[in-house]
Amino acid sequence: MHHPPDEILRASSEDGWLRLIAVRTTTLTESARRRHHTSPVATAALGRTLTGCLMLGELSLAAASSRLTLRLIGDGPLAAVIADCDGRGRVRGYVSRPTVELPLRADGKLAVGQALGHGQLVVSRDLADGQIYTSSVPMQSGEIGEDLAAYLDASDQIPSAVGLGVRLDRSGRVVGAGGWLVQLMPGGEAHLGLIQNSTASMPPISQLMADSTDLSAVLALLAPGLSVQESSRHSVSFRCTCSLRRARRAVAMLGPDTLADLVAIGQDVETRCHFCNRCFRIPVAEFSALTAR
Ligand SMILES: [Zn+2]
Repeated sequence: MHHPPDEILRASSEDGWLRLIAVRTTTLTESARRRHHTSPVATAALGRTLTGCLMLGELSLAAASSRLTLRLIGDGPLAAVIADCDGRGRVRGYVSRPTVELPLRADGKLAVGQALGHGQLVVSRDLADGQIYTSSVPMQSGEIGEDLAAYLDASDQIPSAVGLGVRLDRSGRVVGAGGWLVQLMPGGEAHLGLIQNSTASMPPISQLMADSTDLSAVLALLAPGLSVQESSRHSVSFRCTCSLRRARRAVAMLGPDTLADLVAIGQDVETRCHFCNRCFRIPVAEFSALTAR
C-alpha cells in the first residue's frame, strides 16, 4: 500500500498563542517494525516513542548536530522503549523486549500502558555545545502521549496536549502512524476551551494517517476556525548512525588479551546495533590490524 512520505509540520496560530506540530511516521514506524521484528503492542509503543521523540526534537533542537533521546522505562513486560533523533528529523529506536504479546484492552486498543507499566519518562538533550541535559517525570499512564504532555507541562511550564497513534493491519503491519502536539503560550488562556474541545473530538491520529490526511488538515482540526501559519515542513525518516567503522572500534576496545583469546580459538566477533538491529561481523583475520591501532 502506498502512503504519503513521512514528514513533520510546525506552525503557530496567526495570533501567536498556539504552537502546533503534526507529524506523519507511517513509513518509518513500519521500517522499525521490520528491523526489530516487534509484536503488535511493541510496534505501537515503539512507533509512539519514535513519533514523540521527533516532535520533542522539532521543539527543542536548533542545530542539526544536536540529539535528543527519549526513554520510557517501566516495570511492565516491555521494560523500556528508547528513541533518539537529530535536528534533521532522523530518528532511530528500539524496545527492550520486542516480542511481548498482551491481550487487547476492553476498547480493542493495544495495551501499551499495561506493557510499559509504571516508571519514568526521561529526556536527554545532547546539544551542540557538548553539554547533556537530562530531565524526567513519572509516567502518567504509560500510553506515551499523556506522558509526554505531562513532561512538557512540567519542564516547559506550558500547558500541552499530545496525540500519538499507530494503526496496524491484521498481519501486524503499520498502516498509519503519526502524532500531533499543541501548546498554549502564556497569555493565550482564551484559547483553552477551544483546544480542550478540539483535542477531545479529534479522530485518532492513526486513523487520520491511515487515511493519508494531509498534515495541514490535522492542524486545522486542532485549531478550528483559527488562521494557522506554517513555519517549517521537512521529511523525517528512520536512520541510524552505526557503521562498520564504529563496530570495528568497539571490537578494538575489547582489549588485546580478549582479542588474542578469540584469535586462539578462531572466533569471529559479531556485534549488533541496539538501535537498528543491524549486525556487523568482524572476521578474526582483522583482529591483529585492530590491536595494532
Ligand atoms: Zn544502528
